[in-house]
Formats: sequence, C-alpha cells, structure tokens
Amino acid sequence: MAKETTKAARPARQEMPAQDPQERAHNFYEVALGYRPETALLEASRCLQCKKPQCVSGCPVSVRIPEFIKALSEDNMWGAVEALKDKNSLPAICGRVCPQESQCEIQCILGKKDQPVAIGRLERYVADWERAEGMRTPTLPEKNGKRVVIIGSGPAGLTAAGDLAKLGYKVEILEALHTPGGVLMYGIPEFRLPKDIVQAEIDYLKTLGVTIRTDVVVGKLYTLEELLSQYDAVFLGTGAGLPMFLSIPGENYMGVYSANEILTRTNLMKGYLFPKWDTPVKVGNRVAVVGAGNVAMDAARCSLRLGAQEVHIVYRRSAAEVPARAEEVHHAEEEGIIFDFLTNPIEILGNQEGWVTGLRCIKMELGEPDASGRRRPIPIQGSEFEMPMDTVIMALGTQPNPLVFTDATQLERTRHGTVVADEKSGRTKMPRVWAGGDIVTGAATVISAMGAGRVAATDIDAYLHQDGDHPWWPDDAVQAKVS
Ligand code: FAD
Ligand code: SF4
Repeated sequence: MAKETTKAARPARQEMPAQDPQERAHNFYEVALGYRPETALLEASRCLQCKKPQCVSGCPVSVRIPEFIKALSEDNMWGAVEALKDKNSLPAICGRVCPQESQCEIQCILGKKDQPVAIGRLERYVADWERAEGMRTPTLPEKNGKRVVIIGSGPAGLTAAGDLAKLGYKVEILEALHTPGGVLMYGIPEFRLPKDIVQAEIDYLKTLGVTIRTDVVVGKLYTLEELLSQYDAVFLGTGAGLPMFLSIPGENYMGVYSANEILTRTNLMKGYLFPKWDTPVKVGNRVAVVGAGNVAMDAARCSLRLGAQEVHIVYRRSAAEVPARAEEVHHAEEEGIIFDFLTNPIEILGNQEGWVTGLRCIKMELGEPDASGRRRPIPIQGSEFEMPMDTVIMALGTQPNPLVFTDATQLERTRHGTVVADEKSGRTKMPRVWAGGDIVTGAATVISAMGAGRVAATDIDAYLHQDGDHPWWPDDAVQAKVS
C-alpha cells in the first residue's frame, strides 16, 4: 500500500521548455531554455536513489549521478557541483549535447516502468547555476617542474589540460584555429551550445594556469619530435575534422560545401551574427544536406536560420537507420526540415557559370544488414530523378587531418587514418606521445573524447612519476577499436 502511495505521488518527467519552432527556425538563440528552480527540484525528487544505480555505469565517465541529484534535491547546490564535477569537468556542455537517451538515461531504473530521470537536464541546471554564481578555482598544488604540451583544444585536449594543471604540471595547448574549443566552438551551432558557455570553460582553464597558443598548426610549425625535445609529454587531441565527399560528378561546383566548412563559417567566423559581423555565409533558397547524422542536422538547421526557404535532408537509408539523436531529428522536423529517405545523390548538376542547380538522385531499397549492422541500401535501377537545388552540403563523416603526423613515422595509424592508442592509457606507439578523442576513435562524442583526455592525463602523471625503466607499450595493450 505504502509503495502505491509513493508511486502515485511521483511527478511526471519534467518537460524542457523550448523556443517556439516557428520563431526559433529564424534565430540562433538557444532552443532549449533550461529548467527553472522549481522544475529542477521536482525532477530531482523523481530519483529513486538506487543502492546499485545503473545510470552511473551508463555514463562513459561514471558521473556520481545519484549523489549530485540528491544534493540538488536538498538544495545543497555546491555539493551538487562537487559531485558532478568530480568526474565531468565540462557539465554545462555535456548537459546540453550528450546523447543521454542512449547512455545514462537508458540505464535508469525508473525508466523500466516510467520515464527515466532527466539526468542531462539536471546536469545542465547545476552547471548553469555554478556559472551564474562564479566558478570556484580549486587550490592548486606547487608546480612539479614538468611540462606537457596538448595539441588541439577540443574536449579531449581541454580535459587533459585541466586534469594535468590540477596535478601541478605546466600545461600549454597548441591550437590550429584562431579560437580554442574544437568542435564545441566551430562545429556545434550556437542554438544548441551557446559559445559563451564554452568560453567560460576555457577561461576557467586559464585560471588554472593553462596557456593556450592559437594559430599554431602542429605538423607545419613544429613536428612531434621537436615538441618532444621541449616537453616531457605530448598529448594529441586533434580530432577528426577532415570531411569526406561522395566522389560524384559536380562536387567542384560553387555552392557545394562540406558541413564542416559551412558550420565553421557560421559559428567560428560569426556568420550567424551578420550584419553585426561582416562575414556572411551564403546559402541559396533550396538547400540539400546529404547525410543524416548530428552534423547533418546542425548544417540543415543552420541553413534554415541563414535564410534558406526549403531545406532537405537527403539520406540513402530509411528513418529507422538515422544516426542523429532522436531529439535533434525531432527539433529539425518541428522547424520544417524535409526528410528524403532512401534517396542517394549520383551527380550534382550545375550551370555554365559553375554554380549548383540541382541534384540527380536514385531511389534506394534496403537489403540485408551490412558490416555496420544496418540494412544495406541498394539502388533501384531506372528510378533516377532530379531535385532543383541552389546549395548542396555534404555531411558524410570525417577523418583525422593528417597534417599533425608530418615526419612522425613512429606513430602507428589504422587504414581509416586514426591513431593506434592503448585504450587503458592513451599511449601511442611513439614514446612520450599520448592520444585521445576523435583522432583515435574517429568521429564520436564529446563525453568519450573527455573520457579519453582524462585517461591519458592520469597515465601521463603516473608515467612521469615512475622511477627506473619500464616498457612503453603495455604488453596487454588493447588497441583502440576503429569505428
Ligand atoms: P575536436 O573537438 O575535433 O578538437 C580538435 C582540435 O584540434 C580542433 O580545435 C582542431 O582545430 C585542432 N587541430 C587539428 N589539427 C591540428 C594541428 N595540426 N595542430 C594544432 N591543432 C590542431 N558529440 C556529442 O556528444 N553530441 C553532439 O551533439 C555532437 N554534435 C556534433 C556536431 C558537429 C557539427 C560535429 C562536427 C560533431 C559533433 N559531435 C557531437 C562530436 C563531438 O563534437 C566530437 O566527438 C568531439 O568534439 C571530439 O573531440 P576532440 O577533442 O577529439 O576533437
Ligand atoms: Fe536515480 Fe535513475 Fe540513477 Fe536510480 S538509476 S539513481 S533512479 S537516476
């Protein structure tokens, strides 16, 4: 009986307030507005405080989820911050972009019979509260005299840098672009991840003593060998930012972009702030985005906000195989993005001046599952058709940019261009060089990149503090799985 009363009293999962779809499709303000204090407390009260919480094992960095939710529900906000940040140094970012529905929330015990606790929304709430209060800088140990260089300032590099700085290392980040943050700054759009949040995390790192040098392309300006002669350890976190194309006729027409290019122009070069910034991004009235991952959704939704009248997602498989997060697809649909499933481009059409005029496509049907586990798309002969388009954006995946590997012959790489690194330590085959994030796994997630940065920082610390000779490459190395 008592059990029934408790169940009946439990509130429903609290919805995330959001901007109206019609309105937000034409602005770059954040779509999700965040919980109010009373909503956050209601949602926190839904947590069962399980003795064996499954949610923690679903989180790639094992955030102390029940503890931070308990502290929040007791209005102990600094306690909630402490429990949250113990394992996750970028919670305001993860609370916004982590695929919680397939990680912690899918494991939530409450979710077996009811809706799971909205863990990500609570994480965002606590992190936003902390930012509003002013982030506290931890007491730092004396510098230990050792120097580490981090190449790349995405989530992997930022996490490794923060952890090492807190352990007393002098840490320097070298970043190729003019602004640090990696994909968090140049890829994920403002309406999903406001840039002042990423900037706050970068400013926080600076308070820990981390120095960041931008416009430094490693491989061009320095080789890894040169860096090894100046630093005790090197961490490679250069991501997977090199876009792939379909290799079909017409990809050189003007009006064809990679998703990375259009997102970089929009985010990093402030195209979304035109005319306040004089760096506009031109998209036509009709835009086709080829691919259906998170990157494709971002490119499509940005195109709409940049002024396109009609935006299509062109995908060769069906709705069931779409790799983007369900929430992103839902938001895109609400905003009016058109999905053309089982459709594969075979040629980009253009005019005599060299501008895109359309896409020639073929209809597909699904066969047996392929190596990826998804059903293989097969062209239907004779089903070719044309779609008039002004802009075509390729969002087909990315791989590591090879520039950083210049003269680094000791580094072992896979046939996908990723670096071979030991999963448990982040060590590459090149002594004193660690790697983590997308450069090792191929395009993955923010939280997995952060997890890899943390693993490497822990191992760098252990390695630089050991006495005597030890083998560099662990005998029982488990090579990072290639995506
Ligand atoms: P990156 O974030 O790619 O950072 C690498 C940095 O290294 C960059 O700043 C780059 O300029 C720099 N660099 C590269 N070469 C050099 C060099 N030679 N010298 C110096 N610096 C160099 N994940 C999620 O979890 N949720 C999402 O919603 C999500 N959305 C995404 C949307 C987009 C548009 C994209 C592109 C990715 C998205 N991802 C998402 C994936 C996620 O952002 C990445 O997995 C993550 O950023 C990888 O982190 P990283 O630190 O390994 O590399
Ligand atoms: Fe709370 Fe769900 Fe984790 Fe249990 S599994 S502690 S209910 S968030």
